[in-house]
Amino acid sequence: MGTAQPALTGPDLTGPALSVAATAGPAEVVPVAFIGRTSTLMQDPVASLRRQVRKSKAWLPAGFKIVAWYWDVESGGLDLDQRSQGSNWQAAAGAGIPRDGGMADLLRAARSPEPPFAFVICEDIERSARDNYNSLKLERRLRDEGIAIFATDEPFSIQGVNATTILVRRVKQGVAEWYRLQLKEKVWEGLKEHNYDGWNIGPVPYGYTAERHTHPNPMKAATGRTKTRLAVDPVRGPIITQIYRWRVTDQLGVPTIRARLNADPAAYPPPDPVKGWTLAGLYKILANPKYTGYQVLGRTHITGPTRRVEVPPEQWIWSREATHPALVSKDMWDAAQRISAARGNVQDAEQPKTRTGRRYRYRGRLWCKICKRRMRGVTRTTPHAPKPASYTYYQCPHDPAARAHAAAYPDHPNVMISEKALMAATAGFFTQYVFGPNRAAMLKAQLPADAKQEAARRAQLAKRLDQQLAKNEAAQQALITGLEFPADPGDPAAAALRERIRARYRELHTEQKTLEAQRDQLDTVTTEVQDPALLDTLPILGDILTGAPAGLAEQLFEAFHLQAVFSKEHRQVTIRVTITDATPDAVARLRADTRVTLDKQRERDFEEGSSSWSYSSDDQRAPAKLPPHFIPELPPTTQQAHSQATAQATQ
Ligand SMILES: [Zn+2]
Repeated sequence: MGTAQPALTGPDLTGPALSVAATAGPAEVVPVAFIGRTSTLMQDPVASLRRQVRKSKAWLPAGFKIVAWYWDVESGGLDLDQRSQGSNWQAAAGAGIPRDGGMADLLRAARSPEPPFAFVICEDIERSARDNYNSLKLERRLRDEGIAIFATDEPFSIQGVNATTILVRRVKQGVAEWYRLQLKEKVWEGLKEHNYDGWNIGPVPYGYTAERHTHPNPMKAATGRTKTRLAVDPVRGPIITQIYRWRVTDQLGVPTIRARLNADPAAYPPPDPVKGWTLAGLYKILANPKYTGYQVLGRTHITGPTRRVEVPPEQWIWSREATHPALVSKDMWDAAQRISAARGNVQDAEQPKTRTGRRYRYRGRLWCKICKRRMRGVTRTTPHAPKPASYTYYQCPHDPAARAHAAAYPDHPNVMISEKALMAATAGFFTQYVFGPNRAAMLKAQLPADAKQEAARRAQLAKRLDQQLAKNEAAQQALITGLEFPADPGDPAAAALRERIRARYRELHTEQKTLEAQRDQLDTVTTEVQDPALLDTLPILGDILTGAPAGLAEQLFEAFHLQAVFSKEHRQVTIRVTITDATPDAVARLRADTRVTLDKQRERDFEEGSSSWSYSSDDQRAPAKLPPHFIPELPPTTQQAHSQATAQATQ
């Protein structure tokens, strides 16, 4: 449009230069407002503003004249309503460009009964606001006042902005936004492509062999480079499948699995013949997603020469489709991950005791109500009693003498409970709530209270996550602002600063993804179906636990995924069991065993005598019965998978 490109030399920027620029126009002068912005990070904000003014003036047709000047020196990443609040513009005040205010003043003037201008001109629509949302907001607010905004890279139309202009503008806005986002993703893309193609990265997992292929890049192939695909090892592959089955289907602990494997090295050749099967090795196998047949990338993030940080599973990059034969199904792998998170160090019934006489039935199943930590078993002997005996207790690890402990829970007393008291409470619980004739009615009374409490807990968690997300977003926004303009490539300090900003941005981005995943999970976690009918699948057995041998009690706890919380204050144990589709079979098996051993055990117990119930060493009262009211507060557990249903009750 404009044919003149006058240099801006003095304060008289509204001078005659533009009147010669166009050949036709309305007779009257059309008042136009100039809107400009430059960033605080620009090396020369004055030069940038001058260019914007020059281009705007050059673009305007004859008869259009800039009569009002609005510009800011600030980030375009700010929300429209947060603009024009600082005094940075004073840095460019000496540039000789008139100023009637900033973006906020422009909007205010546009809203006034008689706006001093009919159009707004800017160099580039991107310059008015950096993201689409805010530039559309500006456009809309002006349009509401009957004012059109033009950009110097768009065609002019006296009727205002036409359809083509809008199309061009939107495309430009979209491209600009795409460019910003794409920069962030670019680094990952190359790596992802390699992964999508299904080539293995890293060592070949146990159970697979490496299938070498000529490198697809001829240059690399010429130097003998190859790429690797995974193939099933006919001997070791089935062992992986077996390990997952033991873990997921049979719910075995990793030490038990290790013991089974090491018991038969010929059938289960260990990865390292010298060390045999190790716990660490098995945990790695149970966490390795490559056994599902997919290639998975980005499970760890290298942060230093020897430091690796684990990346949350939601951010792993999975190949588009299966790239090698699966040794376990995705469902089974998922289930194994949930077990690892939920199970803790519950001891398997078949796992041999580490020391004779030190077998703790509630190991990994009992929590302290005050500090929510697992209570650990201890054995006490009574040397002064006429007949020395030893008793098993569970003790909270809280140590009032340790400064960190005392600071976290100042009023935490010594918390201890005897195994006998626990067993009595547990036996009573099973008798009434699981194997008793009135169990259905008791569960029905319990379920709504649980649901309410769970809803409250989730609402609180959701609120906290939302707050963290908002904080994270603000922090990311602040960093983006810092990166908005390119640094002088010759300035190493600026480049280093930008790299640090980017690194921090990546951290925040990772944190954000984790928070979002947690938030999403909170919304979808209600998949645990409460199915009270499962209770009816169990026989009415009454008290089967009193006097049951230790091994059987543990198997029963395992079958019901028993969890317990001890409250010293209320002298109360809250017990939670979960009934799944697999529970009735487990109970049937146990019954068959119990009948054989129960009588023998009863005889033995009678001889030993069992009159020494106690809660702690300094509190020797023997409560006859635990108070009946409910405290169904338990440590968070991973939800049950699939169509499993749970029934829960407390005592
Ligand atoms: Zn505690």
